Amino acid sequence: LNTYINQKFFYIIKEIKMKKAFEADTGRVLNIVINSLYSEKEIFLRELISNSSDALDKRRFLSLTSNQDKIGTDELKIEISTDKKSHTLTIKDNGIGMDQEDLEQALGTIAKSGTTEFLAELEKNSKKDKKSKEVNLIGQFGVGFYSAFMVSEKVEVTSRKVGDTKANKWVSDGVSGYEIEKADKSEPGTEIVLHIKKSEKEYLDKERIGFITRKYSDHLMYSVNYLDGGKDPEILNKASAIWTREKKDISSEQYEEFYKQIGAGFNKPLVTLHNKVEGTLSYTNLLFIPDSRPFDLFQMDVKSKIKLYSNRVLISDDSEDILPRWLRFVKGVVDTSDVDLNVSREMLQHNSALNKISKALKKRVLNELKKMKDKDTEKYTTFWKEFGIVMKEGIYEDFDLKNEILEISKFHSMKLNKDVFLSEYSEEMNPEQKEIFYIASENKEMAEGSPHLEVFKKKKLDVLFFTDPIDTFWLSMAGEFQGKKFTSITKGDIDLSAFSDEKKKKEKKDNVVIDELVKKIKEILGESVQDVKASSKLVDSPCCLVAPDSGMDVQMERIMKIQNKDFKGMPRILEINPNHDIIKKLNGIKDKDDDALKDAAYLLFDQAKMVEGELPLDISLFNKRLSKFMGLALK
Ligand code: ADP
Ligand code: MG
Repeated sequence: LNTYINQKFFYIIKEIKMKKAFEADTGRVLNIVINSLYSEKEIFLRELISNSSDALDKRRFLSLTSNQDKIGTDELKIEISTDKKSHTLTIKDNGIGMDQEDLEQALGTIAKSGTTEFLAELEKNSKKDKKSKEVNLIGQFGVGFYSAFMVSEKVEVTSRKVGDTKANKWVSDGVSGYEIEKADKSEPGTEIVLHIKKSEKEYLDKERIGFITRKYSDHLMYSVNYLDGGKDPEILNKASAIWTREKKDISSEQYEEFYKQIGAGFNKPLVTLHNKVEGTLSYTNLLFIPDSRPFDLFQMDVKSKIKLYSNRVLISDDSEDILPRWLRFVKGVVDTSDVDLNVSREMLQHNSALNKISKALKKRVLNELKKMKDKDTEKYTTFWKEFGIVMKEGIYEDFDLKNEILEISKFHSMKLNKDVFLSEYSEEMNPEQKEIFYIASENKEMAEGSPHLEVFKKKKLDVLFFTDPIDTFWLSMAGEFQGKKFTSITKGDIDLSAFSDEKKKKEKKDNVVIDELVKKIKEILGESVQDVKASSKLVDSPCCLVAPDSGMDVQMERIMKIQNKDFKGMPRILEINPNHDIIKKLNGIKDKDDDALKDAAYLLFDQAKMVEGELPLDISLFNKRLSKFMGLALK
């Protein structure tokens, strides 16, 4: 009997209450969220109402596309009530609901992807003494639900999923972990009870709740009702999908609220694009470009995410088929009657109406950016700083649009020492110049230190710095811009003779003089180089490495090496400067001191490698040779 009771007891414990610790990082994050984000606590209500609205969207879609759960749109609602005696605030919806697994997944883990970035960002921000920005981070990182703990000492979530008969209750104090137990609930949906902290009792006040709801959730599609005892429910918001309304009736504050409500950003949108199109295609778009990068912009698998509606019914929360990946920073809503509700996620990709809408929207975004570039330089500078690097992906992903994207792209100009458009570069070009000269490099500083620039400075030719890794990739797709070829100054033989004729003769004379030295150095370096040549371009440096004409650009090769450890790359050409003192002296000893010549050849080669950001061929030998030369020089 004892055993039986024990077993039964164990069974009951196991069935009824499952105490679980939060996932490793969740506790840490919660702590930061709750303790560091002190201002604007009221946004917790926006987050919970938005979650309810999402759940209602999902149920509405299910009801319209399947037979098992029929419910009228006007029956879908959110209800809020407060109880001053028990110190609770309750938010209830009859949306899709959650089963046990959903509860664990959705509320037990935090920021499913990008946790590390999330933590870093939060910690950075909580150290700084800023106010509103940090709070909004909550919404930005998709941990909206947890904001409830800013005002609650305990949160209870009772939920029943559509199609289930049983419900579950999730309870947590937001510190130690959570418990899940079986519960009863008469209809599908979710009920969240917040046990409000003593210090936050303003959130039990009806007026305050009404004010916050109107402030953040006025343009939700569903009504938010306040239940006050036996009285008739009072509707707190306008409950009209904002994108269906006329532009002229919407204030910028209202756009801004909606922008935050859908989690598109956390300050003000940089650009708002609201259009109604009617004709062969009919659709409405309300799209935003945020004023700064979302945290996940550079994650490998991030796609563009747009909310897709069909006549105000949500089809997809994160449709990847509306805007291309290189416009993934654009957020918002597209509503169209041309796409059937029953279309599956997989079929969306091949939907011809959607493809046309997608094309039109790409153009619209590009046109808007072009307008901004011409009319509002400052705004465009902000935009390019945040998203230019992503836009450039479009140059190779969207072949048809590459010229249009290049037209609005900015690059650093050596001569003007600022970011310029290619059209500005063209205006500065020498009348004889046919090409756009660039140097691809890891960063601006390295580009600036490159010996390849010397001759361009001397001849007053401008060179663009391509310092984003993406640059080498789009360059392989776009060889030219408006008839001008992109030419790497680290590659092959660039003929600059047209730009300064009188120097040419002298250089030729010198070249002849060092022919034999060149040959000897080539013998010494052997397979490490493809060739050794006398340079006609170097001014102040003794030597530099040049990629062979047919080979890969130096920077491209470096990127390949990072991605593939076994990638060797091609040996490069060592160019030496006949007019440089060191070379002249070497020329003098070339037949007398073989050892010194050999060491010098290697030192020159290693120097040239290091200027490109690479390591010497053999570090310990490099050190020995350098010490030896220093010893000689200091004698
Ligand atoms: P997000 O809304 O950005 O996904 P949240 O932290 O606000 O992040 O919510 C986490 C998840 O919990 C939601 O994605 C959803 O799956 C689930 N959830 C939260 N509230 C509800 C609700 N009222 N009804 C159904 N699911 C909900
Ligand atoms: Mg949410």
